[in-house]
Amino acid sequence: MTHADDVTWMERAIELSRKCPPAEGAFSVGAIIVGADGEELANGYSRETDAHVHAEESALSKLPADDPRLAGATLYSTLEPCSERKSRPLTCTQLILHSPIRRVVIAWREPSLLVADCVGVETLRAGGLQVVELHDLAGRARSVNDHLLA
Ligand SMILES: [Zn+2]
Repeated sequence: MTHADDVTWMERAIELSRKCPPAEGAFSVGAIIVGADGEELANGYSRETDAHVHAEESALSKLPADDPRLAGATLYSTLEPCSERKSRPLTCTQLILHSPIRRVVIAWREPSLLVADCVGVETLRAGGLQVVELHDLAGRARSVNDHLLA
């Protein structure tokens, strides 16, 4: 994936995040899993299938855990994967670590608003994953959540 590819996929993930049903206590996030050949494997967004599902979780749930394409795939998420959550036993950071995915691209670090200190990026890197942050797109990913941040 080139930087231009990363930007293009992240722009699509940001568009996807606009589909999230609004919620008072949760961010709107879009996620896309892209295979090594540059083909979209799955996507997801916050609250897509139930009130608590996260974007990365929703995208991952659409592929078999042993899908061979996951090994070379990149997961794009508009927000840093969560490292703490009440609604499910596993955080998105853990779900990604348990998957064969080894590259994650994010636009926006989780602010200390709903969780005191999200350590998704640090935890993924400690697990050996490459994490790329597209700082130039952070403002656009954040803008979808202006209702929470006002
Ligand atoms: Zn999550």
